[in-house]
Amino acid sequence: MRRSRLLRLLHTVRPFELGLARAPCAACSFGWCLRLARSESGVRCPRCGASAVTQSLAAVVRSEVPELARCAAYEMSAGGPLVDCLRRHCASLVTSELLDGVAPGQTRDGVLCQNIEQLTFADASFDLCTSTEVFEHVEDDAAGFREVFRVLRPGGHFVFSVPLFDSAATVERMGWQEGRRVELLPAQYHADRYRGAVILVQRDYGRDIVERLAAAGFAQARIVRPPIALFGHARPVLLAQRQA
Ligand SMILES: [Zn+2]
Repeated sequence: MRRSRLLRLLHTVRPFELGLARAPCAACSFGWCLRLARSESGVRCPRCGASAVTQSLAAVVRSEVPELARCAAYEMSAGGPLVDCLRRHCASLVTSELLDGVAPGQTRDGVLCQNIEQLTFADASFDLCTSTEVFEHVEDDAAGFREVFRVLRPGGHFVFSVPLFDSAATVERMGWQEGRRVELLPAQYHADRYRGAVILVQRDYGRDIVERLAAAGFAQARIVRPPIALFGHARPVLLAQRQA
């Protein structure tokens, strides 16, 4: 784990919630899982720093995607424990970020810019697409899902996480009024490591996210519970497949 990341993590430690379990990290296979605090972000791999969400995603990729070693993969972030994990296990890996002031398809400081609503990749470029906590921020998520479907090869998998709410229907937090984007619910923001500051949460996904994926063309879409404990903080992950 990078020293700066470790120092940041140490600030989150709650001494009475500390825990250590003999359980392999799904991202880097290190043999122990550390709990710094009773929260998703407080459960970490002591070696690579993967959080409970990242480990959940890595676990589903590794258990559900066949022939990972032959996969051309695309991950919608440019760094971190999941990128390192995919780089180790997949045949090839393309990564990207949405960068302000950079045209999609261009790079800045070696980081490729992509807008998920309008990817610049050719049709059927990848066997596996992944993203962590991205789609709740995408204004037109239906367009984003269609783009992922387009760039996947037949039989390809889309594995991703979003905050999932225990409700049947997705709640849109933003809407259109007289051609302008307006708040339907009080604005909420998440941190973003590249775009700095904060990015707006567009919606709270419910279980109908699988129907949204089906509408984008995915023959099969389901919510998968990862096969790991993570001190009770394992996060359900979305798994969708383009028909072979
Ligand atoms: Zn790890």
